[in-house]
Amino acid sequence: MNFEEIWQSVLGELELTISKASFTTWFKNTSIMDIEDDCVYISVPNGFTKRWLEDRYYKNILSAVTNVLKEDRIKKLIFKISHTPTKINISGNTNSVKLEDIQKDNSPKLTQSGTVPLVINPKYTFENFITGKQNELAKAASMAVAKNPGKVYNPLFLYGDVGLGKTHLMQSIGNYIKQKFPKYKMLYTSSENFTNDYVKAIQSGKIDDFKKKYRELDALLVDDIQFMRGQERTQEEFFHTFNVLYQNNKQIVISSDRPPKSLPAIEERLTSRFESGMIADIGSPDFETRIAILKSKIKEKNIQMEISEEVLSIISNSAKKNVRELEGALNRIVAIHQLNNQKITIESAQLTLNSTNAKPKEVGLNAKSIIQAVSEYFDVDYEKIIGNSRKKELVIPRQICMYLMRVELNYSYPGIGAEMGGRDHTTAIHGYNKIEEELKTNEKLKSDINNIKQKLYN
Ligand code: ADP
Ligand code: MG
Repeated sequence: MNFEEIWQSVLGELELTISKASFTTWFKNTSIMDIEDDCVYISVPNGFTKRWLEDRYYKNILSAVTNVLKEDRIKKLIFKISHTPTKINISGNTNSVKLEDIQKDNSPKLTQSGTVPLVINPKYTFENFITGKQNELAKAASMAVAKNPGKVYNPLFLYGDVGLGKTHLMQSIGNYIKQKFPKYKMLYTSSENFTNDYVKAIQSGKIDDFKKKYRELDALLVDDIQFMRGQERTQEEFFHTFNVLYQNNKQIVISSDRPPKSLPAIEERLTSRFESGMIADIGSPDFETRIAILKSKIKEKNIQMEISEEVLSIISNSAKKNVRELEGALNRIVAIHQLNNQKITIESAQLTLNSTNAKPKEVGLNAKSIIQAVSEYFDVDYEKIIGNSRKKELVIPRQICMYLMRVELNYSYPGIGAEMGGRDHTTAIHGYNKIEEELKTNEKLKSDINNIKQKLYN
């Protein structure tokens, strides 16, 4: 959970114990600025609110925070006045994560009224999903399910690495069902949204509404189930939802970055349910498929520039393992050449792909966002990751940051060293090599890195 999510849950709890009027008056424009050791820093809009909260609601807030964080290490609340709560960072506080960095996090945010609903994007269809032998089973199974929801493969479990088209296929199923069975009640969601929704339902005492929403569906599509980690009650609820839908022959589609067996944080009774239907994996596309994908994207985006076969093959070879990156490379080349009013030649395409900062610009990725994502994923402080402590729980995240900067940003080793708190380039080399070597055998690390990438690119 990031600070905003924590605070939304705290507010959810407080809402139940305080009158609606006071709640809106006193908690408007408040947020968590920082959590450090045993202390939560809360940003408030003015001195009046600060005093009021300190005098009247200190205990309520503290106990709500303790409940939400499920641990009682938090002993203190400190209220700070800030007129622009979203821009604050606490200076001189070396252990803390800067709020600005947290704000950059793109993960779906909770709103006062509930979760941000996920929408099915009409641009994802079976027609524009290009097949090769690595994904034809997944596509065929998805189409079969879309044509006969609940009748052929149930559940359908799609898995594959990040950027290989899981969401595309899932939403294609959604779009197809929407069109062919307009009366069907269908929901596309992520495991994170399901969890948030459930927590919200409990907090507001609306569990019956929750059950109605999920158990009366004709089709439930859950993206990225790997993020449903170790949350017992949510898994319990999901298990029941699953059973009800399944027994009523309602279609369930699940995606994941790994097969059911390798979902360690998910209870076995759930993974064995997942295994009971059809499991289809999606692998990295081969050269021909990558070229076909590029051609399809060029048509779809109505790109008028001339792009030769040679250039297409340069682009295909620049991103072999991730279709999203492949698309990114194409977009980058087209954008830069259009901007300069330049023809795309083999040399200029190569140059664009080689230029180190082209990639981050495209996706808004930078060293900071990598460190931030890793810090959130492992729940360790940003400052500690770039700091000097050699504790094991810091060393791995630190090396993962170095690895990702190299792989995702093409950073030089001295550049990585500089971003990582001024370390020597040999440390960066060591960090990168360590992770690369480990990845050959360590499945857990592989999936950790995939999850972090997923966060970075979504
Ligand atoms: P995932 O959910 O597996 O991380 P996505 O479904 O978001 O991946 O795919 C990433 C991007 O790549 C999307 O823009 C998607 O349209 C595109 N893509 C992936 N596979 C294919 C394919 N086989 N044909 C066409 N586009 C694809
Ligand atoms: Mg996806």
